[in-house]
Amino acid sequence: MTYLMGIDIGGTKTEVSILKMPMDISSHLSLKNLTQWASSGGRPEIIFRERVKTLRLKGFEQVMRRIAELAMTGLQAHNLSADDLMSIGIGMPGPVDPIRNQMIHGNSAIFVDKDISNTLSTRLGFHGKVVCGNDANCFVLAESCIGKASHLTAQNPKSCIIGIVLGTGVGGGCFVDGKMLLGKRGSAGEFGHMTLFQNGHPCYCGQLGCSEQYLSGPALEAAFTRRIYAQIESRPSANQIFELAEQFDPIAMAIVKRYKKHLAQFLSQLSQAFDPHAIVIGGGLSKQPEIYKGIEEMMKNYLYLPEDGPMVLQNDLGDSAGVVGAAFLPILNDMM
Ligand SMILES: [Zn+2]
Repeated sequence: MTYLMGIDIGGTKTEVSILKMPMDISSHLSLKNLTQWASSGGRPEIIFRERVKTLRLKGFEQVMRRIAELAMTGLQAHNLSADDLMSIGIGMPGPVDPIRNQMIHGNSAIFVDKDISNTLSTRLGFHGKVVCGNDANCFVLAESCIGKASHLTAQNPKSCIIGIVLGTGVGGGCFVDGKMLLGKRGSAGEFGHMTLFQNGHPCYCGQLGCSEQYLSGPALEAAFTRRIYAQIESRPSANQIFELAEQFDPIAMAIVKRYKKHLAQFLSQLSQAFDPHAIVIGGGLSKQPEIYKGIEEMMKNYLYLPEDGPMVLQNDLGDSAGVVGAAFLPILNDMM
């Protein structure tokens, strides 16, 4: 058996997992073998998965100590030592410079420019490979190789898969030619800050009209709240707004209709740029069946090449995509 560790460090929660891979896959590890296995239903066995609060206000050293303790707990629970792991992959809440293997920007400032790989290796006594990557990229990697789009990658290893995370913010990434597209500084795929509307809603990044201000959960909630200001007793969540729309609440229906129009425009712009085989949707809003209904047809109104556009797919791995993708970060480059 081969063991991989995947860690997903978020601003509020951090998750540590240990994955077990069957020997026949891990001893002949290639993108083709992996994706063929996954597309016929194979999945890594998650033998340990636990979350702790990140508690970033306690400072970097304390935070790393807690993560290492949780990792040790997982290893000990299965009578493993750190060196039984093949590698450790870490998803980070911001872009990660692929050369320095460090996060270069993000709201969780305590991780910026920190050597997390070395800090963790030292604390665990681990001598193998540790690779950090952006958390949205981990989602895309997981869904492209092991999840929803693994059959497309198996059929054609050069496939282009776009992943979009619709959650508290809007993130994403691009898996193409068997690799994550990273760009110069590891910040490729920051689709949430692409302009959807000139002079639109202000964004915390300093620009106006960023797609995140229209497509994130909080954006949907704000749009609904604005329409019912005087009557409001409690502010419904984004998922509750979808439920209200299903119950024919007229304002919720109008808000969801407009949300889907914005989503179709946004996905069409990404298609213009990447011509992907598929777009896989993740994040809290991806659970709503409504966002997939007719979306490919709607996109035809905005696509330069409307015929045979990309498939728009709901993710397969759910909230385990983050740790699964992180676990595969270190070995992806060796799998060509
Ligand atoms: Zn922005």
